[in-house]
Amino acid sequence: MKLKDQVAIVTGAASGIGAATARLFAAEGAKIALVDLDEAGLAKVATEIGGDTLTVTADVSSDEQARAGVARIMDKWGRIDVLVTAAGASLGGTVDRIDEATWDRTFAINVKGTFLWVHHAIQPMIAAKSGAIVTLGSQLAQSSLGNNVAYIASKGAIASFTKTVAVDHARQGIRVNALMPGVIDTPMPARSLKRQADPEAARALWKTRHPMGRIGQPEEVAKAALFLASSDSSFTTGTLLFVDGGWTAH
Ligand code: NAD
Repeated sequence: MKLKDQVAIVTGAASGIGAATARLFAAEGAKIALVDLDEAGLAKVATEIGGDTLTVTADVSSDEQARAGVARIMDKWGRIDVLVTAAGASLGGTVDRIDEATWDRTFAINVKGTFLWVHHAIQPMIAAKSGAIVTLGSQLAQSSLGNNVAYIASKGAIASFTKTVAVDHARQGIRVNALMPGVIDTPMPARSLKRQADPEAARALWKTRHPMGRIGQPEEVAKAALFLASSDSSFTTGTLLFVDGGWTAH
């Protein structure tokens, strides 16, 4: 088992990529703190996983809730080995049409939420001189499909954030890497399809953008998260790992 007895926090664990990551990490022996706004979704995933889990219902954009969540995890297990920041929101829209609230909410969840959980969870990692952090960017930060300006800008910010945190903390034994997925089959792109004028055309475009001819599954991203979280990637930090069926190479 690749994460035996390690303590892993997964934000956004109630759905999609976060839930798949939590399931895989638990199967690899980790004790999991599942963090999400969605209390019912968290309870469902925790029941599926069984074993040693802790659910933390929290809005990742709240400093107070992040601080309290990390304190609860430290009280229960006394260490944090891995953090995966998968909580995210994609609200859609072009720059001429979105409003300030859409921009601010997107950045609050995707960027500030990542910052806050890294900020609080990295403190015990620094003390232990060991840790692995995996953030969630997006392939869209590299080549935009359009009509989602706040989300795509926020994912560009995650890529830069990840690289600089990796540089700052490399000598403290902490590795920090970002996953950059293509379109993955979760509720997030399903919601985005509903916003499109022509959902079938959008779905067809997604397929052609991935040279493998299909979108990805959350379990395929979870396997890449496991690589970055475990000692299999012991000399890898500051990397943006594209899990995108070849889209970036296309
Ligand atoms: P999802 O919608 O299935 O899951 C996102 C989770 O984040 C949900 O459980 C939701 O409740 C939680 N969340 C949202 N706002 C929150 C908040 N303020 N506080 C706490 N939890 C909150 O989406 P997903 O596809 O699993 O996405 C996971 C991550 O992967 C996101 O960061 C997303 O941007 C990124 N990503 C997804 C895709 C994709 O195509 N699905 C592609 C690239 C990157």
